[in-house]
Amino acid sequence: MNSSPNLRRLAALKAKSLHRRLRTIDSVDGIRVQRDGRVFVNFASNDYLGLAQHPALRAAAIEAVKEFGAGSGASRLITGTLAVHQELEAKLAVFKQTTAALTFESGYAAATGTIPALFGKGDIIILDKLVHACLIDGARLSGAEIRVYPHNRLDRLEELLKWARQKRPGSNILVLTESVFSMDGDLCPLSEIVELKEKYGAILLLDEAHATGVCGPGGAGLAAELGLGNRIEIQMGTLSKAVGSAGGFVAGDAALIDLLINSARTFIYSTAPTPAAVAAAIAGVSLISSPTGEQLRATLRDNVKRCRENQELTGSCGSAIVPIVVGSESEALRASEKLAEQGYLVPAIRFPTVPRNSARLRVTLSAAHEPKEILGLREAIAGAATEPIRLGLHRPDA
Ligand SMILES: *Cc1c(COP(=O)(O)O)cnc(C)c1O
Repeated sequence: MNSSPNLRRLAALKAKSLHRRLRTIDSVDGIRVQRDGRVFVNFASNDYLGLAQHPALRAAAIEAVKEFGAGSGASRLITGTLAVHQELEAKLAVFKQTTAALTFESGYAAATGTIPALFGKGDIIILDKLVHACLIDGARLSGAEIRVYPHNRLDRLEELLKWARQKRPGSNILVLTESVFSMDGDLCPLSEIVELKEKYGAILLLDEAHATGVCGPGGAGLAAELGLGNRIEIQMGTLSKAVGSAGGFVAGDAALIDLLINSARTFIYSTAPTPAAVAAAIAGVSLISSPTGEQLRATLRDNVKRCRENQELTGSCGSAIVPIVVGSESEALRASEKLAEQGYLVPAIRFPTVPRNSARLRVTLSAAHEPKEILGLREAIAGAATEPIRLGLHRPDA
């Protein structure tokens, strides 16, 4: 293959400070990781409660490997459905207070399998401008007509719902949003969105990737916090972040789950999640909904407050994501490197993950951080910035 077009594209990415490369972590010790022979405090992980390193999850994974093996051997509909898959799905249904739940290889696979299984040509999908790539890809794969509303703008969402209802009176209309947004850490106005989708007879898919385990009663998420779970048709989450394992899930009524088993291609045509990952997720969900989970969430909230300079958090659903919007891609990279020199891993998030010229440092906190590590990070950030910046005061639409 002639590689010069590839080299040209790589050079263009480098020129715009948009080139990415893999950096290897050689060992992990809780929240501290080793890279290139140096130890860093990790402020880049989505392991919000420290469960990925928890002894109970490690032990559960090892037990499952002993009992079922390293791989599950086949897809779920063939012989890949093991007792652990069934146990995890029953547990997730209880956790989310739905009749049923279904797990996928990843949250990405949950979204890209679910949306095209339920919606298609002739339907309309309306999504928040800042939703995660997996929701956008799922919407594109479905072949439905896609419309985008500015982040959290209810007036624009309503305009689109009204337009969609008039344009296609009998069609399915799907609204896609996240509860805690992945790159901004803010919440969607969920009660209002639920009211609107009901007013126009639309369906809601809520992605709780960053709220699962972090907010709501028993860590069940924002829908549970607001008592809206039974009014949201498709509740999605991941097992890869606060749950501490890997995988994604959808929770809802029995007909929804049965239909996904029969038509979600990422579910049908992929080998079942490994026994180790599934068993670790069971242990993760158990911990999250236990008093230990409650304690870890309280510690996480204290850590978020500490990082945000004691600025009051909105409601009980504070997110663990603190974005520091820098603007230029090269400046964000430079700040990230400067923090690394001082022993703090904070990623520079750039286009296309976030809009152009809204590159940012994305600090994610964990219950496993020590207060002195957070104070150290704050000082390092103040030193790394060319202009004074305040943590967590970013408002995407301001
Ligand atoms: C991380 C993430 C996903 C994907 O979950 P994985 O299990 O990592 O594939 C989906 N949606 C949102 C909002 C996310 O942040």
